[in-house]
Amino acid sequence: MEVFRYVGGKLYCEGVSIEKIAKELGTPFYMYSHSKIEENYRELDAALGRIPHLICYAVKANSNLSILGILKNLGSGFDVLSGGELYKVLKIKADPRKIVFDGVGKTKEEIEYGILNNILMFNVESFSELLILDNIAKKLKKEVPVGIRINFGIDPHSAHRYIDTSKGSKFGLEANEAKKIYLQAKKFKNIKLVGLHSHIGSQILEVKPFEMTFKLIFSFVEELKKQGINLKYIDVGGGLGIPYKENENKFPLKEYARALSLFKNCKVILETGRFIVGNSAILVTKVLYIKNSFGKTFVIVDSGMNDLIRPSLYGAYHRIIPIIKLSNYPIVRSNVVGPVCETGDFFALNRKMPLPKEGDLLAVRDTGAYGFEMSSNYNSHCRIPQILVKGKQFSIIRQREKYADLIKGE
Ligand code: PLP
Repeated sequence: MEVFRYVGGKLYCEGVSIEKIAKELGTPFYMYSHSKIEENYRELDAALGRIPHLICYAVKANSNLSILGILKNLGSGFDVLSGGELYKVLKIKADPRKIVFDGVGKTKEEIEYGILNNILMFNVESFSELLILDNIAKKLKKEVPVGIRINFGIDPHSAHRYIDTSKGSKFGLEANEAKKIYLQAKKFKNIKLVGLHSHIGSQILEVKPFEMTFKLIFSFVEELKKQGINLKYIDVGGGLGIPYKENENKFPLKEYARALSLFKNCKVILETGRFIVGNSAILVTKVLYIKNSFGKTFVIVDSGMNDLIRPSLYGAYHRIIPIIKLSNYPIVRSNVVGPVCETGDFFALNRKMPLPKEGDLLAVRDTGAYGFEMSSNYNSHCRIPQILVKGKQFSIIRQREKYADLIKGE
């Protein structure tokens, strides 16, 4: 269902006029659709059908408490990558038995925090981490469930090398290293090696790299079985992409589920982030100024890389559409740029688009994942509010920061 649509030439989110909200609350802001998040979660869950599975929503994509709450109510578990993320999911009273803790650089304090909260599984990424974990578990007199993150080195064909976590990245252990650890599992008295983890990258739009990885996981698990080691959980990470561009296709969920059906005797854990929240939001911004310089047209808006860094960091493409449909606007190659003092501060470069007027409102689409979450106070800009729409109602799920917030703790 298209939740962002024009009604009488004006963009709505579900039953709410975005122009009205902008008038009431000012710009910029993020706006999320409750029903889109639910729809995406349910679609994924349904596609997995009878495969024994647990979706652990990747908190790193968007950790707003209200959004975490929606997912908890749908039955989702959570994938956390830091003590802070664990704190947030515990705040919404998530079931600890549905929490997995990932990350290449967990501190002793974070490990202890996870152990004390009896989470479902830690995914470890080095031998040293495993030793530390075993020691802490011993001190706390616990037996801790652990998975090992394996980097099978499959090229995920993701959209940017910064979101490719395969060969040559810092993530996981090579399969032969991991195997040695599984085989000496008995040495670790306070650890139960129950799982295997393999997240290959993010924003992947084809099934092939997943399929290849699943096959490698399958043979690895079969080999372990021959040695008497039976794993309970196969954590395949996240990475399911979304179409950001007009010409991109939806992620082939059915094919993905078919590839996953290989794992009949284990529980499959998915750490999906972007697919669940990515297309649930827009970033609403106002055009401040239009100018031409050295033959280029600049549309200067009131939001920038401090609010949405993906274009600057990954060269990511986000569609930009008007909040009030434009007619008879000239189509001009434009640079949509923000107020930050960096040349890399842009939402679009050299993009053919209807040239808006000063004061017009624009929506930057598909900004629900890694949008607000990666925002900062750079140039001492206040973080912008997050608005959640449900039907004809909206609520502010994070307030706009004030200048006083900028000096908190200084
Ligand atoms: N799990 C791990 C270990 C990750 O690093 C990431 C993101 O990079 C995710 C899950 C979520 O990925 P996505 O949002 O692409 O589903």
